[in-house]
Amino acid sequence: MRGIEEFREVATEASEWRRYLHQNPELDYQLQNTASFVAEKLASFSINHIETGIAETGIVALIQGEGGDGPTIGLRADMDALPILEASNKPWSSTIPGKMHACGHDGHTSMLLGAAKYLTATRNFKGCVALIFQPAEEDGQGAQRMVQEGIMDRFGISQVFGMHNQPGMEVGKFGISDGPIGGALDDFDIIVKGRGGHAASPHRTVDPVVIAAQIILGLQTLVSRGTDPLESLVISVTKLNAGTAYNIIPEHAEISGTVRTLAPGLRDFAETQILAVAQGIARGFGGDVEFKHRRLDPVTVNHTAETNMAIKAARNLVEPASVDDKIRPSMGSEDFAYMLEERPGAYILLGNGPTAGLHNPAYDFNDEALPYGIGYWVNLVEKALPV
Ligand SMILES: [Zn+2]
Ligand SMILES: [Zn+2]
Repeated sequence: MRGIEEFREVATEASEWRRYLHQNPELDYQLQNTASFVAEKLASFSINHIETGIAETGIVALIQGEGGDGPTIGLRADMDALPILEASNKPWSSTIPGKMHACGHDGHTSMLLGAAKYLTATRNFKGCVALIFQPAEEDGQGAQRMVQEGIMDRFGISQVFGMHNQPGMEVGKFGISDGPIGGALDDFDIIVKGRGGHAASPHRTVDPVVIAAQIILGLQTLVSRGTDPLESLVISVTKLNAGTAYNIIPEHAEISGTVRTLAPGLRDFAETQILAVAQGIARGFGGDVEFKHRRLDPVTVNHTAETNMAIKAARNLVEPASVDDKIRPSMGSEDFAYMLEERPGAYILLGNGPTAGLHNPAYDFNDEALPYGIGYWVNLVEKALPV
């Protein structure tokens, strides 16, 4: 049991790493500078084993405890930034126009590095900790690639834990719940195929713009009329493109959107029914559709035993009331879900204070949260792997 004061010193150092990473954001799998920064820091802590180049720029590092043999648990941080022009006006703003750490992965990486520094110095646990630094959380399924490259078996990881900062939640507070905590993510594209022609003679055409309008309205009823009201499903049309001129009825219209749900079975429902509605409407008006549906992140599902362990670890660090153990799930997706499909584990939210929201140009990770994140990791390791 270690209170927050234990982590102030390492957090001060972690804030320097965090600001360096914030100034030097990289995207997706292109994390060459970030990954070498992380690997250099890890090497300076006398880590037992470092492996780089997993899923291109991912890293797994092992720390052996001094409490004897035991299992290996995985702690995961994401390292990638976003294609956004920063407007935080902080002295440590991004030096690369059009790229910024707008999701706080600079903070996540620094907190796991801080925990690594603390754990290599103390080693007050049995078994082994596997630090997982992953690329491409935002748009590339980096967690899935690390799993596909076999990290769970290769490093003997038996449980996995993740953490994400939460703007709007007070610094020093945590939120978690057993079961679904983040939504599944699927994207779809519908190309409406009509027959183009002169806008003054619509009767000689099959107008894909009118068909697209009907399809968009039709999709709204899949949730309101087709889904159990007690289950969660979102179908949002987010893109609509058609036409080039005032006087031409175009050949095609394109509709794109996203599906989010907390119930894995509703992903199949959404896929088949979006196609059925789009096809039925288009054919009814003499057109047709091409349909593409991409399965992306699964539902993020916390496991009971590991969730309870995470709650206890957080309550070793802060007042019990500062850990909300029944937080409402979010429909936002998180690719850590792929790791939770492979191994039991838990994903926790960490208060980031009253900052701008995630993915907003004015967002900045709150350095005051660093000791809480580092302290959570350390308490979790000592709780999960007790001597
Ligand atoms: Zn994000
Ligand atoms: Zn994120």
